[in-house]
Amino acid sequence: MGGWNSGGGRDAPREDHFLRLDLSRLKALGFLRPHWRQSLIWTRGGRKEGDIVIESYPDHLMLIYRTRRNGGEWRSVCERVSLAFTEPHYGGRRIWMLCPGCGARKRTLWGSERFLCRACHGGVTYESQYADRMERKLTRIQSLRRKLGGEISLAWPFPERPKRMRLATYERMKEEEARLREELDRLTIEKFGWSL
Ligand SMILES: [Zn+2]
Repeated sequence: MGGWNSGGGRDAPREDHFLRLDLSRLKALGFLRPHWRQSLIWTRGGRKEGDIVIESYPDHLMLIYRTRRNGGEWRSVCERVSLAFTEPHYGGRRIWMLCPGCGARKRTLWGSERFLCRACHGGVTYESQYADRMERKLTRIQSLRRKLGGEISLAWPFPERPKRMRLATYERMKEEEARLREELDRLTIEKFGWSL
C-alpha cells in the first residue's frame, strides 16, 4: 500500500496492561498522522497478549484486531472510530475519538470485543468489579518488585534476589507474584476477551 508506514523494528513492542487506547499516547507514538499505519502490541511478562493494527485517516481511525469470547472462536474485527476536533481557547486543535457505542467525545477507549468508552463497557460496574481488582493486584505486584529493587514493569523478568535477602523470603515473594499475575491474566481475559 503506497503511502503507508508500517510498524515494526524499534517501534514494535508496546506495553499496556489494560488494553487502553488513548489519544495522548497514540499521538506521542506518531499514530495520528494521516495515512499512517502502525501496529500496537500489548505484552505482559514479555509475552504477547494482544495486538491491533491502527490506520489513521484525516477524520477517522480504523482498528483492525482479533478477539474471542470466553475462549471461543477468534473473530476478526475492523472498527471505524470517527475523529472530532475542537478548538480550545488557548489555541491549537484538540482531537477526540467518538465512541463507536454512544458517539461521545473521548480521549480514551477501552479494548474488549470492541473498543468503547467506559460507560459503554458498563461504567461503574466495570470500574468497581474489574478495574479496581486489577489495579490492586498490579499495585501489589509492583510493590513486590520494588522491594527487590527491580523493574516494576511486568514486561521485565522477576528481579534477581538481593544479596542480603533470605532465599525463603525471596521464593515466597516470587510465588506470590506468579499467583497475582495468574489472577490478573484471568481477570483480563474474563473482562476483555483478549488473548493471543
Ligand atoms: Zn460510549
